[in-house]
Amino acid sequence: MGLAVIILAAVYGVTGGLLLPRAAYRLSVEPDRPWRDRCPEGHPLPGWLGLARCRGGLDSPAAPEAPCAPAGPPAQPETPAAPAPPHPDAPVAPAPVRPDTPVSPGSAHPDAPAGPPAQPETPAAPAPPHPDAPATPAPVRPDAPAPSVRTPSVRTAPVRSHAYGPSSVRTAALSGAVCAALAAAGGPRPEVAVFVALAPALVLLALVDLAVHRLPDPLTLPLAALTAALLGGAALLPGAAGSWRLALLGGAALGASYLVLFLINPAGMGFGDVKLALSLGVALGWYGWGVWIAGAFLGFLYGAAYGLALVLRGRGGLKAAIPFGPFMAAGAFTGMLLGGFGA
Ligand SMILES: [Zn+2]
Repeated sequence: MGLAVIILAAVYGVTGGLLLPRAAYRLSVEPDRPWRDRCPEGHPLPGWLGLARCRGGLDSPAAPEAPCAPAGPPAQPETPAAPAPPHPDAPVAPAPVRPDTPVSPGSAHPDAPAGPPAQPETPAAPAPPHPDAPATPAPVRPDAPAPSVRTPSVRTAPVRSHAYGPSSVRTAALSGAVCAALAAAGGPRPEVAVFVALAPALVLLALVDLAVHRLPDPLTLPLAALTAALLGGAALLPGAAGSWRLALLGGAALGASYLVLFLINPAGMGFGDVKLALSLGVALGWYGWGVWIAGAFLGFLYGAAYGLALVLRGRGGLKAAIPFGPFMAAGAFTGMLLGGFGA
């Protein structure tokens, strides 16, 4: 049972992780800039979730704005541009053959896709066209273009698939490992399902923060509300081992703590960190104040250790800005493991 839960969580985490890179790329913009909707080479991006791999690169002059088709090389049209029947009174004519052409319709154009099958008993000799015979080509004017000459409307060009954004393998591995560890620590309990379900969103926030030192509001605020709501539901289920009341208090307390820090030193921390602290505080508070303190403290510890390492390696001064969201998340993750094993 326990192993199955861990495997299930890992599969979920890997799957979620594979959907994150494109979202991380699109969200990684400076404040007050619109979300990215094109790859670095200018191809439109299909949707928000998925791998950060563009399959665009069409050099077709007819379609310079060709979208990055996710379902294979779009260079070759599936259905070649049907040769427009020039005469609407003869739509089923498989070929514009003059009545005196001494060739049977079937053998004349074997590749005609829309034409009715030639009657096998049709003699090769020129037969007078019966008006009721469906296979007989209707007499058309000799100036009709031959439809068998296909000219592809889109020039076949090699698709230049190229990657952008964060690595899919690393993202999937991280998300899968986090989800598996949460499941291993907490076991098959309803609140663990909530934590596992929301963990990929935290990975996404960390990716964006690492890229642009920013935690977008459309992620942080819904995540806080979702965490509180889902834990409220989990608290009603049998097997829940935590307190929803403490979770709400923990969210308010951690958010307030980060707000104080932000007001004391606005340069040292972004306001996005304050909003992220809401959801992390809710999750940590579920297991009680001991876990809450541990998770909050470890976040600072991880961030301080990273900043110190940067200083020691000469890659940044004490004032160097570092993205703090990933360390907050890592601290909360460690706290959740402690809480899961202890509960
Ligand atoms: Zn592209």
